[in-house]
Amino acid sequence: MNPTHLVRRIRTLGRIAEPPPSRVPQVASGDGTLAPSEAVRSDRVTAAAHAFGGSVQIRHVDAGSCNGCEIEVGAAFGPVYDAERYGARLVASPRHADVVLVTGVVTHNMAEPLRRTVEATPEPRLVLAVGDCARDCGVFRAGFGVRGSVGDVVEVDLQVPGCPPEPGAIVAALREVTGR
Ligand code: SF4
Repeated sequence: MNPTHLVRRIRTLGRIAEPPPSRVPQVASGDGTLAPSEAVRSDRVTAAAHAFGGSVQIRHVDAGSCNGCEIEVGAAFGPVYDAERYGARLVASPRHADVVLVTGVVTHNMAEPLRRTVEATPEPRLVLAVGDCARDCGVFRAGFGVRGSVGDVVEVDLQVPGCPPEPGAIVAALREVTGR
């Protein structure tokens, strides 16, 4: 695109981000009603959120997902839901991270990498299980390659239900951690 046209388009397009979701994580359940996401270890979430000071670096681990949750995580960090405006940022190394965001059931092959990724993340750290598979194995329960849910392998601090969760629910859970 011609640079002049690009600048004009940027100036005329205006704001496209969604309005902020509720500070309390809200997710749509099967019957369409809204329910809060679940803080599994709320004391740890509160203490870590205070230590993070409004900004968190996030390492994402796909432990065995169907990729549906990845699409929603991608949307949560895209221009419409824009999780970065609340101080949440994806990073490439657990050494740089405060939060490990896990999607999918944990397969046998991913159990040890997940455990080592969490161990490599400095304290204070939080583990966020995103999606029904991460919470309780979801539709893949009893699959031959499944080790278990994320909580069966590492300690989980916060869960976001849904198959897949909506981007707004993921952003709302991240805001719970950044406090913004
Ligand atoms: S919760 Fe649903 S969308 Fe997410 S990994 Fe499991 S089956 Fe896929």
